[in-house]
Amino acid sequence: MLTGKTAIITGGTRGIGLAIAKKYLENGANVAVAGSRQETVEKALQQLQAYEGRVMGIWPDLCDPGEVADAFASVKSKYGSIDILANNAGVSSRTSLYDYTLEEFSKIMDVNVKAVFVCSQAAARIMKEQGGGVILNTSSMVAEYGQPSGCGYPASKFAVNGLTRSLARELAKDHIRVNAVAPGVTRTDMVAALPQELVDRISAGIPLGRVGEPVDIANAYLYLASDMASYVTGVTLRVDGAAMT
Ligand code: NAD
Repeated sequence: MLTGKTAIITGGTRGIGLAIAKKYLENGANVAVAGSRQETVEKALQQLQAYEGRVMGIWPDLCDPGEVADAFASVKSKYGSIDILANNAGVSSRTSLYDYTLEEFSKIMDVNVKAVFVCSQAAARIMKEQGGGVILNTSSMVAEYGQPSGCGYPASKFAVNGLTRSLARELAKDHIRVNAVAPGVTRTDMVAALPQELVDRISAGIPLGRVGEPVDIANAYLYLASDMASYVTGVTLRVDGAAMT
């Protein structure tokens, strides 16, 4: 579904991002995995060795426009284009408002919102010049319901939805589609570390009766990146088993 396309996946070193990288590679894309450190990027590339020649690593500071522009230029120079940007890197916290520090709030906003702005701007400049592309953002089900602690995280994901709708409208004339995926509880490292009993309790509250797997989210990323979604822009696609909390 993605043969001949080149994708950049931020936070592609583990969890949902690594699942997106695998899905895109299985579907014929060239992939640049963007991580925060060279060591974690190299560890991820070891897991993707089967696709040698179609996968590379970059580790720019996602909030630094110069570093991001240079890293994206290196991807374009290796593979010839940048067709898909998956803004997946994210951090969360559940700190109560009474204990929340400004530093913690700023860090959440930097990774979850500012980096999406910086990376989207760098990618859109390249995509406009080449005639189009796809930008995908990672929202969350908490961007519909909020959550009862860690207010910075849902606030950041509401902002991601706002960027998604606005950029979709602004960039449509340049043939750039912009959509978001809003995962529910998904079995990444954080969920895998929870006691099975707790995971069972969470699963019981989800109408489909289970937490999501990273591949469930990656499948949505595949659809939205592909030409199957050629008339879809500005949506936030919920992939949460109809969870309501
Ligand atoms: P994870 O912690 O396993 O992975 C997060 C990724 O982001 C890692 O690769 C990490 O290196 C990267 N990252 C974090 N800070 C970074 C920075 N400053 N620069 C570059 N990369 C950075 O988490 P995950 O569960 O795979 O989450 C991926 C995305 O999905 C996030 O945006 C998260 O908010 C969202 N999400 C996850 C769930 C869930 O239940 N797992 C639910 C809803 C939304």
